[in-house]
Amino acid sequence: MEIIRTTGERFASVLLEGGFPLILNYNDLESTTFFVETCQMKVLTCTSPGSFEYTEQAMPVLSKSHAIIKIKRIGICGTDLHAFEGTQPYFNYPRVLGHELAGELIDADGATGATFADDFKKGEVVTLIPYFNCGSCIACRSDKPNCCVNLEVFGVHIDGGMKEYISVPAYSLVHGGGLPAETLAWQSRWPSVHMVSGAPM
Ligand SMILES: [Zn+2]
Ligand SMILES: [Zn+2]
Repeated sequence: MEIIRTTGERFASVLLEGGFPLILNYNDLESTTFFVETCQMKVLTCTSPGSFEYTEQAMPVLSKSHAIIKIKRIGICGTDLHAFEGTQPYFNYPRVLGHELAGELIDADGATGATFADDFKKGEVVTLIPYFNCGSCIACRSDKPNCCVNLEVFGVHIDGGMKEYISVPAYSLVHGGGLPAETLAWQSRWPSVHMVSGAPM
């Protein structure tokens, strides 16, 4: 554990775990703000067709029903190439690309509760389903999240995984099944990961 700042009685305690500083003291808004402003990470952004730019951004903080992943490998597919070329009609710029991802699970909300019940463990290599549904539209309420009218694809409609850490809905996590990150990233295009993770390599 390392104390990164003290201001009288107020302090932000962080636990350096897998390189990721986790806030232990959530009650101090000032410290939390300081933490968010202080802990920066590198982000690779496609600023316009044909152009990438490294910038810094505040590291994600663990939030309700979400998971923090330290990115290890990123698969590049045709969608990314078209986005880079400017021939992908669903893209707006600037956009952080990256939707075929593998990384180390740093933490997830509800580690002992329902959202984390599938035996996910801190430190395990995971991938994710990059399709995020809203949970409240008529399709979601009818248990058809793939038909969500507000569906957002990570790295397409919203900023994706070309950053050091990402925050994603905990429901999107998928066990790596023992695959190394470099294999898992390019196998994470769905639904193949299920088949491959269970198959002998
Ligand atoms: Zn893809
Ligand atoms: Zn929905």
